[in-house]
Amino acid sequence: MKNKNEAVVVFSGGQDSTTCLLWAMKKYDKVYAVSFDYGQRHVLELECAKEICKKLNVEHTIMDMSLLNQLAPNSLTRDDIEVDKDAPAEGTPNSFVEGRNMVFLTFVAIFAKVRGISDIITGVSQSDFSGYPDCRDVFIKSLNTTLNLAMDYDFDIITPLMWIDKEETWELSDKLGGFDIVREMTLTCYNGVKGDGCGECPACKLRKKGLDAYLKRR
Ligand code: ZN
Repeated sequence: MKNKNEAVVVFSGGQDSTTCLLWAMKKYDKVYAVSFDYGQRHVLELECAKEICKKLNVEHTIMDMSLLNQLAPNSLTRDDIEVDKDAPAEGTPNSFVEGRNMVFLTFVAIFAKVRGISDIITGVSQSDFSGYPDCRDVFIKSLNTTLNLAMDYDFDIITPLMWIDKEETWELSDKLGGFDIVREMTLTCYNGVKGDGCGECPACKLRKKGLDAYLKRR
C-alpha cells in the first residue's frame, strides 16, 4: 500500500524549494525534506536548509553527495572558478552542476520508496530555467518513467513551479503564508549571501526582478 499522505521534498534551502516545502506542507500530513551535501562553496546553504526545517518542524535528512563535486567541479563548488555573470551564448552556464537533478531525484526516489511514499516534490522550473537542461519538464517526465521502471514502482514527481516564473513563485509563497520565511531565511545567491543576497550574481538578479514585480502589485 502506498502512502499518499506523505511526500518527500528535494530541499536546497533556496527560494524555490522552500516554496515547494510550504506547498507540500499544506497538501500532505507529513513531509520529509532531503538536502544534499555536494561540497557547495557555501556551507551556509545547508545551514539555511537546517534552520528552515527547524522553524517549520519538518524532518530533515542531509545526504552526502560529495562524489558529485569530485566528478564535475563547477563554479558553485570551487573557489577558483568564478560564476558567470551572464548566461553564455551557447552551452550551459558554469554554475550548472552536471547531472545534479538526475542524481538527486534518483536518491530521493530510493528514500521515498523505502518509506512507501510515491510523491516527490521538486522546485524545478522551465520558465526561469537559466539554461539548465535538467530543469525541463521533458526531463522530469522522462526520469519519472525511468524511476518507475527501475524500481517497479509508481512514483509521482510533482513540480509545482514548472510553469511559473519568479514573480509568481513569490506570490505563491505569500499565498502559502511563507513570504517572510522565503525572503529572510533562504539562500539563492551564488555568492553565499542570505536573504536578498549580493544583488550582483545571476541568481540574485533573477530573484530580485521577480520580487520587485510582485511587490509592485502585492
Ligand atoms: Zn548573489
